[in-house]
Amino acid sequence: MKRCSRCKEVRPRAAFASNKAARDGLQAYCRECWASAGHLKRQYGITEAERDELIASQGGVCCICRAAPAAHVDHCHETGRVRGVPCFSCNAALGQFKDQPEAIRRAAAYVEGNAWKPTLVAPGVYQLPS
Ligand SMILES: [Zn+2]
Repeated sequence: MKRCSRCKEVRPRAAFASNKAARDGLQAYCRECWASAGHLKRQYGITEAERDELIASQGGVCCICRAAPAAHVDHCHETGRVRGVPCFSCNAALGQFKDQPEAIRRAAAYVEGNAWKPTLVAPGVYQLPS
């Protein structure tokens, strides 16, 4: 048995990949932790320490609603740049708006009561607000 230095779970030796350089011949992280840490680095190009720093800089909460715990590393799909760590709901909302700032601004105006209203300028002819 061995304790994973990341998740702190005590797991059987088979749960650890081998590492010839280590004193006990095993990786310090269990296979599961190794995989999820690698995922973060591969997908977002940041380490766990960098992610934790980012979450701390947001006060530990979502960078959008500032209420729910920060949960999901979010990145720009075009540039790959990490933008922040929103909660699951806000991250899903960004996806619903397809990451379009214009749509999100209209949504903000909408919930503030400034609904999109075309003006009737002639019968059957509407002018869109600019
Ligand atoms: Zn949120």
